[in-house]
Amino acid sequence: MRLLLAEDDKQLGESLQAALALEGYAVDWLTRGSEVLHATEVAAYDAVILDIGLPGLSGLEVLRALRQRGEGLPVMLLTARDTVADRVQGLDVGADDYLSKPFDVNELFARLRSILRRSAGVAGPSLVAGELEIFLHNHEVRFRGEALVLPAKEVALLEVLARNRGRFVTKTRLAESLYSWDDEVGSNTLEVYISHLRKQFGSDSIETLRGVGYRLVL
Ligand code: CA
Repeated sequence: MRLLLAEDDKQLGESLQAALALEGYAVDWLTRGSEVLHATEVAAYDAVILDIGLPGLSGLEVLRALRQRGEGLPVMLLTARDTVADRVQGLDVGADDYLSKPFDVNELFARLRSILRRSAGVAGPSLVAGELEIFLHNHEVRFRGEALVLPAKEVALLEVLARNRGRFVTKTRLAESLYSWDDEVGSNTLEVYISHLRKQFGSDSIETLRGVGYRLVL
């Protein structure tokens, strides 16, 4: 899952980016509102964490512009001011959730999982594909009832495939959801991960559409 974090407070931005990366998300961090509008045009994000008090365009103005553009991606607003009017305005403009500073990072994680589940149409705490189950709160993977230990990037890849089970996901989309701008990406990394996953779940578990992408058929 790839997130866009827009927060102009350097200390908070840095610590949130690090904490979210430890949770297994690929995170791009920006400090200006106008940059968010550009970034969401050039990369596919799974959610945006958007501070309201940003220099230039405010978070609310950014959100309004995103929704006017027809951008449906989940948005979590962050604000220093916690008034009912702010919350109502934020939700009316199209925010999916709202968190007031200061907040506990664990609450942010839980709310984020919740908006990501809703956007994927997943009601429960796990993704299920045949005999595969991925628990979203701790990224535990179970196959035929047994817990597997997989590298974080492979779990992230499996999550994207499971969310789109039965549909081909393009290589570009997969790479975008796994890596932030700061990551060094080898050209055949995706292929390597896919081949590891096939060893775990069977050679037929992931189909290739040459030149296009992959789909999970568990
Ligand atoms: Ca701010």
